[in-house]
Amino acid sequence: MAAQIRRIAVYCGSNTGRGAAYMDAARALGAEMAARGMELVYGGTHKGLMGAVADGCLAAGGRAHGVITERLAAKGHTHEGLSEVEVLPSMSARKARMIALADAFIALPGGIGTLEEFMEVWTLNQLGELGRPAGLFDAEGYFQPFMGFIDHMIAEGFLPPAHRGAIVVAGEAGALLDGLAAHEPVVVPKWM
Ligand code: AMP
Repeated sequence: MAAQIRRIAVYCGSNTGRGAAYMDAARALGAEMAARGMELVYGGTHKGLMGAVADGCLAAGGRAHGVITERLAAKGHTHEGLSEVEVLPSMSARKARMIALADAFIALPGGIGTLEEFMEVWTLNQLGELGRPAGLFDAEGYFQPFMGFIDHMIAEGFLPPAHRGAIVVAGEAGALLDGLAAHEPVVVPKWM
């Protein structure tokens, strides 16, 4: 049965990326979540796409819940307008808290921090520890090279083909949220 999604953890770049399109996509996702009554859980900063997804959500009347580390908060990175902020001692505590809060997970374009967080939830789903929908917001086709590498994993025998479909990949906020809401966990074993 498809899950009811009330809160989504969004992972994304703490930089803006090149041009305006990635920032626009982040704001659009925040706004679409707010329009659907979904709360944003994210890293709590005002920087880059992370700040933009929170701004989009808050400007559309939604709730944005930040979970930030002491180290980043001490650098002055905390977004000042959030509905709720939690400050935790380490990245690992922060990631665990974000996972505990969220019914579903999205990665927008970003760097190694974004990929690491998204791969953790995909892996926990693959091992059966989480069982919650996860997807990529493929703005500007940003994740196509990454999905190409996933195909390489499949071709080389390290990932069952069915597991490619265990995440939702969409280039538009509404389609991505619809895909997550309708998504059924993949039950094909990881070992081939
Ligand atoms: P990156 O994609 O390398 O820019 O890293 C972004 C991810 O790392 C986010 O999803 C956050 O979880 C974390 N992160 C990086 N920089 C910050 C920051 N200034 N404040 C809070 N979290 C951050």
